[in-house]
Order: sequence, then C-alpha cells, then structure tokens
Amino acid sequence: MENIFEIVTIKSLSDNYIWLLRNNVKNLTAVIDPSDDKDVNEVLLLKNWHLNQIVNTHHHFDHTNGNLKLKNKWKAELIGPEEEKDKIKNIDSYVSDGDKIEIAGLDALIIHTPGHTLGHVMYYLKNEKILFAGDTIFSLGCGRVFEGTMHDMFYSLNKLKELDPKTLIYCGHEYTENNLKFALEVNPNNKNLKTFSKKVYKLIDAGKPTVPSLLEDELECNPFLQTENDEISNYFDKDKLEGLELFSKLRELKDKF
Ligand SMILES: [Zn+2]
Repeated sequence: MENIFEIVTIKSLSDNYIWLLRNNVKNLTAVIDPSDDKDVNEVLLLKNWHLNQIVNTHHHFDHTNGNLKLKNKWKAELIGPEEEKDKIKNIDSYVSDGDKIEIAGLDALIIHTPGHTLGHVMYYLKNEKILFAGDTIFSLGCGRVFEGTMHDMFYSLNKLKELDPKTLIYCGHEYTENNLKFALEVNPNNKNLKTFSKKVYKLIDAGKPTVPSLLEDELECNPFLQTENDEISNYFDKDKLEGLELFSKLRELKDKF
C-alpha cells in the first residue's frame, strides 16, 4: 500500500536541506525552505507532482531563494512568518505563534522560535510526528543567535520539550558531524551520545543524510537541550551553571569551535 504521506530530502547548496512533503491521498505537495528552484523542480517533474505550497521558516537567503521562481511556475501559495513580512517578498499567507494551518493537507501548528532570526517559526505536524525546524535546532546543535538574544533562543529550544519525543526533526542543515565533535568535547561521558555517535558515523560513511533525527535522541544527546547536565557545567566552571547561563556559555563556545 502506498504511504499516506512521504518526505523527499533534497540536498542543496553546500549543506542545506530542502524538504518536499507529499500527501499521496489528497495529491498535495509542499516544499519547505527552498534555497533553490532547480533542485525542487527536478524532483517534482520526475515524480509528476504539482507544487501547491511553499513554506518558509525564516527569511535567510538559503531558505527562501527559490520562493519566487517556484511560486510563478506552479502558482503555489507562499506561507511565511508574519514577523518577517518585510524581509520575505510575496507571502500569500502569514503565520504566527499558535496558528493552525494545513501543509499538503496535513494539520500543522505554528511555533514561534525567535533567536536565530526574530520571526523564525517551526511547523509541527503532531499527528504525523514531524517537525520542520528550520535553523532553530540541528541534530546535536542549535542555530546561531543572530537577531534575537540568548534568552530568546534558550526559551525557543525549551519549547521542543513539550512536543512528542517520537517526533522526527527535519532541520535546515547538515551540521551533525561538527556538532557531534562539540558535543563529545563538552559531554564525553554521555553514554547515549556515544551510542548516537555510532549511528551518525554509519550514515556519514554511507554518504547518507544524518537527519531527520528523533527528538528523543536530541533530548538525551544534544548539549543545547541539556542545560541541567553536571558534566557540561563542570566543563566550564566548578560552580554549578544551569539553564540560560549554561546555554549562553555553550553557544558562545560553539561559535568559535
Ligand atoms: Zn538561517
């Protein structure tokens, strides 16, 4: 039997991921964060799918550059964060925190996650246990804090803890290997991380994407979600650091790693 939905991974630029979400029952297709139009069109034509929606998590060029060409070619609806309407051109449908929309005919909740950019949103498909996370969280890492504050990013990441741990996280970049090295540096005795590391290198050695990753694994292994972890705190200071304070230290160190 054909799956109700499927997600096609499209590698783009040096390390970006574009996600194509297909609803096989309703014959609807959405693209998430198209850095380019050509890569997307190639898959659509090959699969004989029509593109119905273009979905943006935030305004950065490497997530939106394909918007206009795809919109014109397919007459697709462009969905993007209301808070970034001055930065993303031609949005048809604005979304903000708590909104409920349909992406490729599937229910999605909008979660505002400022930090990387001020208006950044994630799209959570609770029934399918799918999260399109943009540049908020990566496997074993998190986005750089460009526009918001450390406080913003810390609270944005904490929103992940309220989601179903069996959720698959579809993030915007393949940064896992570097993130893994950093995680092992600050949290070397984390047994779950060591196990996860083997899984990651198996994928890397096979030339496969290391994402999506499971939220459950991220909660156990991603240092940016472990701000109560004593070993990570000890890495920085003998005095116990936790929460926002520890998160800020981690993010600052990772920026130079
Ligand atoms: Zn970005």
